[in-house]
Amino acid sequence: MSDELSYIENEEGGFAIPCQIKIAEDCVQVGEFCESKEDACHWVEEECWISSGEGYFCLQCNEQIMRNIVKLETKKMN
Ligand SMILES: [Zn+2]
Repeated sequence: MSDELSYIENEEGGFAIPCQIKIAEDCVQVGEFCESKEDACHWVEEECWISSGEGYFCLQCNEQIMRNIVKLETKKMN
C-alpha cells in the first residue's frame, strides 16, 4: 500500500480518497470517509475505482475517458 496516495481528512479524523481526475459531470468527487487510510483504500477498491498508479478515479470518470477515446477515434476516421 502506497503512502503517496492523496487523502482527504475530515473534521472527525476520517480519511477518504478523492477522485483523481474529476472529469465526469456525475463524478463522485470523493470516496466515503473511513476511520483509517487503509479502510478508505478498501472502500474505493470495493467500489471498483480505477487505480492509476498514483491515485484512483471513479467509475463515472472512467466511463467519461472511454467516451473521449471513442470520440477521438471517430475523429481520426473522418
Ligand atoms: Zn470521478
